[in-house]
Order: sequence, then structure tokens, then C-alpha cells
Amino acid sequence: MPPTTSKPRILTGDTPTSTGLHLGHFVGSLENRLRLQDDYDCYFLIANVHAFTTLADKPDQIRANTLGIVKDWLAVGLDPDRSTFVLQSEVPAIAELTFVFAMLLPFNKVMRNPTLKTEIDTKGLGDTYSFGFPMYAVGQCADILAFRPELVPVGEDQEAHIEMCRDVALKFNQLYCGVNNRTLPDDHHKSGGVFPVPKAKIGRVARLAGTDGVNKMSKSLGNAIFLYDSEKDVQKKINKITVQPDPETKLVPQSHVLLQYCDAFLPKNRAEAIRADYAAGKDVMHGHIKAELGAAINTLLTPIRERRAKLEATPDGGDAVVQDVIRQGVKKANAVAEETLYLAKKAMKVDFGGRTFA
Ligand code: ATP
Ligand code: MG
Repeated sequence: MPPTTSKPRILTGDTPTSTGLHLGHFVGSLENRLRLQDDYDCYFLIANVHAFTTLADKPDQIRANTLGIVKDWLAVGLDPDRSTFVLQSEVPAIAELTFVFAMLLPFNKVMRNPTLKTEIDTKGLGDTYSFGFPMYAVGQCADILAFRPELVPVGEDQEAHIEMCRDVALKFNQLYCGVNNRTLPDDHHKSGGVFPVPKAKIGRVARLAGTDGVNKMSKSLGNAIFLYDSEKDVQKKINKITVQPDPETKLVPQSHVLLQYCDAFLPKNRAEAIRADYAAGKDVMHGHIKAELGAAINTLLTPIRERRAKLEATPDGGDAVVQDVIRQGVKKANAVAEETLYLAKKAMKVDFGGRTFA
């Protein structure tokens, strides 16, 4: 049986498509994870199987990325003694639930998912992506629902995925648990549904733009400021941001990425003053603003960077510590996910026994 706690559950996670996390993750999801760690029973998942959707030919890289992301989790202060770190590939119930959930989602609805469409476009996947690529959106419903959480702290780009996940939970509860189709989502669980219908919790900044000023900051798009970037690299990346006034208004648009970063990383009154100067067409020294921003971001990142460096200051670069942390999470994660699978199979009347659940 899984350990019992009266705290409501959270599930969220990251895909190991890069060796570390970036500022978008920090303001979009990590800050919420840190804040909620004491009041919720938290599950943080590394979607290492989903990384194969775009990096199938790079298993070594996915492994290294997995270790790197867990190092960033530890460096920002996610605590494996309070929260459960989940490695997707070690939790077979997730794969089993993925197959079940694939039957509950219309194919065309999955293919119309706007987050998938944006990814296909911005990651240049063309029409050669694997069958598994759109499947990951179904798999993500299983990542989440395997832990029956109430809340999913994510950035805005994940809203469409969370909506799909809510659809799956509603449909499963209605089809197999006798929940009435007029029952409100919030009442599904107490009305006998196996799954609570989880809600997205969007971060302080819903969508942090990348340094290209166009796309969202992404691990895979070469537009990210990473949490482990050196002070110099942070400043270099900020300095490279181009600031062009709009040819018609002659003003720097208020939507400009530099101003978004001011909102995200400078004190509120200072960001407002800078916005007002740009709006009034004052002769603002972009270089000074960039230096101020770089310094503020570096102040935020210095302790994180130092903790990661300390973790890596061993001959194996901290890998053994991280592997222990992963192993520690696997046991608890499987206890919860196996219980979910047991409940789901019972509801679907496919529980003929012969297999022991946790
Ligand atoms: P990839 O480019 O491989 O898709 P990513 O940078 O989008 O990587 P994910 O692992 O897909 O990162 O996302 C992890 C979490 O971080 C999700 O909850 C996502 O919504 C959030 N997130 C990612 N990028 C941003 C961003 N730029 N602003 C706010 N939240 C973000
Ligand atoms: Mg992403």
C-alpha cells in the first residue's frame, strides 16, 4: 500500500531534452513547486520516455539530461525527503494507463492539440515526427493521473495538455465509475470517480519569452538562459537581445521581451518606471537596462549555480548522489501508481487477478 498522508497531491515535471532547466521553468513552474512543497504531497516527474519522441537516436544524451535536470531540481531546493522524484521509465503503470487513455481520446482531438501543433512548428519536426510524438500528449495524461493529483503547476504552454487530461479523467469516471455526466468536475472524486479532475496552476509568469523575443523560452530552441549559465553567459545572452523601435510609432513596443524580463526579474516599481520611459519615447540607454537585468538575474541564479557546482564537485560530477535520489523516489512512486492502476482496472472490470499490485 502507498504511504498515506492527508495532504492533497501535486504532480508536475520536466522532459530531459537538455542538460538543465531555464528561467522559463523557474518562473513558470519551479517557484510554485518550491512554494507548495510543504502543504502538498508533491510528485515531480522526469519524462525520460517522452524525451525519446524527439531524441530517439540519442539515449546517452537523454540519460545525461536526466541527471542534469535532477541536479537543477536539487540546486533550486526541491527536496527528495519531502517530495517524491519520479523517473517515468521506472513506473510501468504509466505506460499501461497511457494505452487505456488512448481509447478515451478522439484521434483528431489529439492531433488538433495547439501545444503539439506549436511544437511541431517551432521544433521544425515537419511531417517526419514519430507516431510517439503526438502519443506523448496522451502519455502525459497518464503521467498526471497515475498520481491522482489535484493540482498541476505548469506554464501556460501546458494548458491544452491539462485540458486533455481533465477530459480523460471526466470520461473515465463517467464510463467506468458511474459518475453522472452532470456532476461537476470538482465533485467527481467524492462521487466515486477513480480520478480527481486536476487543475493547472499557472506560474507567476505564464509564458516567459526566449532571448529571440519570438518563441517561448525553450530547452530545445537555443533561446534559453539556463539556471547553470555562468554570470558572463547570462549577461552575454541578455546583451544579444535586439531592441528595435517600431518603425511606425518609433517606440519600443510594450510587449518587447526586454520589458517582459524587467517585469519578471526587477522590482515592480523599477519595471514600471522603465516601461513608462519607453512608452514616453525617452532616450533610454538599452545597455544600462540590460546590465541592470543581467545583475538581477545573476543575483537570483548565484545560489542555485553554487549549489549545482557543489553537487558536481566530485569525481563523478554528482551522478551517484542523483542516482540515489532517483532510486529513493521510484519505490514510493510505484506504490501510488500501482494503486491507481489497480483501481482503474477494477473500475474497467478487467481485474481477473493473477498479478500482485503494490
Ligand atoms: P522543450 O523545448 O524540450 O519542450 P521546455 O523548455 O518547453 O522544453 P518542458 O520540459 O517541456 O520544457 O516544460 C517543463 C515545464 O516548464 C512545463 O510546466 C512548462 O509549461 C514550463 N515551461 C517551459 N518553458 C516555459 C516558459 N518559457 N515560460 C513558462 N513556463 C515554461
Ligand atoms: Mg516543452
